[in-house]
Amino acid sequence: MNLQTGSYYWPTTIKNPYTYPPLQENLECDVLIIGGGSSGAQCAYYLADSGLDVVVVEKNSIGSGSTSTNTAIIQYSGERLFTNLVNSFGKSYISRHLQLCKQAINEIEQASSIGDIDCEFTRRDSLYFASTKEDVQKLQEEYDLLLKEGFPVDFLTASQIQERYPFKKDAALYSYDDAEMNPFAFTHQLFQYAAKRGVKIYENTEVNGHKFEQSKATIYTKNNKHSIQARHVIVACGYEGLEIKKEKKTSFVSTYTVTTKPVEDFTSWHKKTIIWETARPYTYIRTTKDNRIIIGGLDENTSQPDERDSKLINKRDKLIEEFNKLFPDIYIEPEFYLTAFYGGTNDGLPIIGTYDEYPNCHFLFGFGDNGTVYSMILSKIIAEVLINGASPDMELYLQTRPVKAQ
Ligand SMILES: Cc1cc2nc3c(=O)[nH]c(=O)nc-3n(C[C@H](O)[C@H](O)[C@H](O)COP(=O)(O)OP(=O)(O)OC[C@H]3O[C@@H](n4cnc5c(N)ncnc54)[C@H](O)[C@@H]3O)c2cc1C
Repeated sequence: MNLQTGSYYWPTTIKNPYTYPPLQENLECDVLIIGGGSSGAQCAYYLADSGLDVVVVEKNSIGSGSTSTNTAIIQYSGERLFTNLVNSFGKSYISRHLQLCKQAINEIEQASSIGDIDCEFTRRDSLYFASTKEDVQKLQEEYDLLLKEGFPVDFLTASQIQERYPFKKDAALYSYDDAEMNPFAFTHQLFQYAAKRGVKIYENTEVNGHKFEQSKATIYTKNNKHSIQARHVIVACGYEGLEIKKEKKTSFVSTYTVTTKPVEDFTSWHKKTIIWETARPYTYIRTTKDNRIIIGGLDENTSQPDERDSKLINKRDKLIEEFNKLFPDIYIEPEFYLTAFYGGTNDGLPIIGTYDEYPNCHFLFGFGDNGTVYSMILSKIIAEVLINGASPDMELYLQTRPVKAQ
């Protein structure tokens, strides 16, 4: 899959990333994880101390897929309002999902500090503003729901927004304790942790054949060079997992981001909050440890790489313009800019795919705008299933979940 094009900031932040050898023998293991992005790393992290014999294969290098283009805003709120999710799934269902998101963010924070790599994990508040007057009521309802669920949120009026920011908006939801981090560093951190505990990791090892039987799977690497026999397989190939198994609940758009050169003065940007909005498609902004600004969004409804790529320069300039509308006093210059596919699900929740033709195999489709948080939840659930035989939360995310349940 032609996932993305452009220049990527995160890989430049680690000068000599850890490398792992290609597979050069046939193997047998308990669990094979296909994919060396952040989702594969999260699975390896949760399985590292399980006593299971775990192998990871990555066709390119660690973190070279969507992980290298991830803006890495770490939030529980996503594109689909929780009030809408409650309408689709029911209150207790979404209440549990919310708690799992919160837990996942805490566990991402813990995991980001388990080694000597600086994952730049920083707690940040978020401002989610109403792009139009019509959206104010929706935000008010979302605020009521989150407050009832025990989340630390404020509802800001136009004058309260103006006291803190140089722009005018009718209302906003202000969330405390979201976060941002460096996803490339995070992925390396987790794989290092797992490797030190005996997880075997292979780069430049592409899976391109498989045979699934009831008691085992045999996976073949490119050109039938080697095989791996595994009792369980986790497909953590990001959006490319769909090349192994199509899942009709998923879809793609194309998205764009710009990372600026470092900026000196953030005085007008209240607490360097993460900022996003109710418009669809939306734009969003965050800062980085070395004082850059990442601006993203302006999604296009296309899954054609040529069409996606042809708009990159125009989108880069538009993203800069959108930022300047909010902060006319902050001068920015683009340094890195990219376009990428971005996967979502039709009902707004991520998916653990399990299919009859792939026995003992879990497809981790952590799709959605909070993909990093979702993959943390799904990785933990899959690890629980493999270690303990079951997870009480598995049903929430199976592709067969009922919509309109109560
Ligand atoms: C522009 C952009 C911005 C985003 N912003 C955010 C954000 O702010 N917050 C957030 O939470 N999420 C965000 N996301 C989503 C986030 O990037 C993803 O959820 C996350 O990176 C997915 O990681 P992954 O490991 O599943 O996929 P990937 O990083 O793509 O990793 C999958 C790996 O599998 C490997 N692979 C594929 N096929 C094979 C094969 N046959 N054999 C061996 N290896 C294979 C690939 O080479 C790749 O390295 C964003 C995504 C994009 C594109």
